[in-house]
Amino acid sequence: MQGHYMLIFERNSELKIHLDRIRAESRQIGFVPTMGALHAGHISLINESKKRGLFTVCSIFVNPTQFNDKKDLENYPRTPQADIDMLRQSGCDALFMPTTEEVYPKEDVRIFNFGELETVLEGAHRPGHFNGVAKVVSILFDKVHPDVAFFGSKDYQQVMIVKALVKQLNLPIQIVPCPIIREPDGLAMSSRNMRLTKEEREAAKLIPLLLNESKIFFKAQKPISEIKAFIASKLAQKSIYKLEYFEICNSESLQILTDKKEVKQGIALIACFVGNIRLIDNLILD
Ligand code: AMP
Repeated sequence: MQGHYMLIFERNSELKIHLDRIRAESRQIGFVPTMGALHAGHISLINESKKRGLFTVCSIFVNPTQFNDKKDLENYPRTPQADIDMLRQSGCDALFMPTTEEVYPKEDVRIFNFGELETVLEGAHRPGHFNGVAKVVSILFDKVHPDVAFFGSKDYQQVMIVKALVKQLNLPIQIVPCPIIREPDGLAMSSRNMRLTKEEREAAKLIPLLLNESKIFFKAQKPISEIKAFIASKLAQKSIYKLEYFEICNSESLQILTDKKEVKQGIALIACFVGNIRLIDNLILD
C-alpha cells in the first residue's frame, strides 16, 4: 500500500537517536499513545497533530499494567499490519512499537495518587487501572519527550488523569483532548467494537441514543435521579446489556451530581457490557 514514509522503531535507543535529531532541527514533537487495533478515532488524533505541523509519533503498546482483567488483556485485539498501513496513509512520521521488556525492564512499583478522581467511574470499577495508565504514560512521555500529546475524550476520565499526571511530575507537555469519533449510527469508535457479534453490534447503538436522551432530559430540568432510573430501566429490558454505571458529573471535576443546580456544565458517562464486551461512552450535557 502506498503512503507517507514512516519510520518504525521497536527499540527505545533507536527512537531516541532519531528524535534527538528532530529536536536538533528545532522541530516540535506531537505524540499519540495507543494500544493499536487502530480506527478513525485514533487517526483523528494523528491528524490533529499533523495539522499543527508537529513531527508526529504514534506508539502502539498493549499495556499489561492497566488491565485489571487478565482475560481482557489476552483478548485485546491486535492488528499490527493493518495499523502500520493506516498510520502510513495518515501521514504519521514515526511509530514506536516496543516490547513489554522495553517498557518495563523491571517491575514498576510506583503508586500514584489522583485523589477523588480515582474513586469514581472507571476508577471505582477498574481497580488499579489508572495507576497502570499513569505508569505507561509517564514511561512513554519519558521516551518520546513530546511537546504536545493528544488524547481522545472518549476516555474522558483518562484525559483528566493524564493532565493531573503532567502537573504532578511537572512535565513541559501540553495535553490536547480531542472529540469522540463515532460510527454513522452514533456508536463511539473503539478497538473493542471489532469483538462484538452482529447482534451485539446492533444492540450497542442504544448506548449513544441513551446518552442523547439523557441530554434532552437534563436540559428539560428532569431530576437526575429520574434520568438515571430511566437509563437503567431501558438497559434492564434486554439481557444482552449489563449496566456498570451511568452517572451525571461535573465536567470539570467528575464529581457525581445529584442536582443540576450544583454545576456549570454536566457530563453523562456510561460503562455498559454488551454481551461480554465492556463499552464506555460520554456526552457533554451543558
Ligand atoms: P486506546 O488505543 O483505546 O488506548 O486509545 C488510544 C487513544 O485514542 C486514547 O487517547 C483514546 O481516548 C483515543 N480514542 C479511542 N477511541 C476514540 C474515538 N472514538 N474518538 C476519539 N479518540 C479515541
